[in-house]
Amino acid sequence: MKNLRPSFLAVTIKCPALIAARTNWNVSCRPVALRAAEVLHLPPAHLIALPAQVQIAAVVIEKNPVNPFRKGIGLFRIGFGYDAHRFVEDRLLILGGTQIPHPLGLEGHSDADVLVHAIIDAVIGALGRGDIGHHFPDTDPAYKGASSLNMLKTVAEWVKRDGYRLNNLDATLVAQRPKMTSYLPSMRSQVAQSLEATASQVNIKATTTERMGFCGRGEGIEAFAVVSLVAISEETPVPI
Ligand SMILES: [Zn+2]
Repeated sequence: MKNLRPSFLAVTIKCPALIAARTNWNVSCRPVALRAAEVLHLPPAHLIALPAQVQIAAVVIEKNPVNPFRKGIGLFRIGFGYDAHRFVEDRLLILGGTQIPHPLGLEGHSDADVLVHAIIDAVIGALGRGDIGHHFPDTDPAYKGASSLNMLKTVAEWVKRDGYRLNNLDATLVAQRPKMTSYLPSMRSQVAQSLEATASQVNIKATTTERMGFCGRGEGIEAFAVVSLVAISEETPVPI
């Protein structure tokens, strides 16, 4: 059995008493399943118990759309995101979901939250799902003036659906002005909330380019983000 190297195990048990009391079967067969996992060197999280008519069988489950162990795509995923927006008049300046007093705002189809866009792109990249423009096209009226934090919440749902959670996120805003320091805690808190994470998992910082380049000339703002995701399967065992 060891030579099969199963990544998942379905334990099935023939027991008239358990079949008769079907409501209780999955609780009752747990010790047997755990012992089988021990023999096969499988973590308990990889067990799925199924009722059947054989004594004990171990099989490799071929399809599990959620668990990344089954996809062979790794326990950890890294994603990188970049975005830049131009300053224009008559627009609010919103960064990390936080409105910042400034004479100019950023041009864009949505609320033009350049920081959150970079973060979204990093998360989408970590999931291997393309980029923000593909999922939230700026030709779609649904996203006109839309809150980028809401888009981030949607992407956070995809993270869960794919069997991951945020490990940590690090992002950098590049702007000559305005001064960001006093707004960074609010950005951090809003981004963390949207990703259902704690503030300690999210780091947001700001820098200037010492007046070099388009950010240095005050023409716009750019943002960079790196995200790491970790598979939740080891932490959330499948109930058996
Ligand atoms: Zn953008």
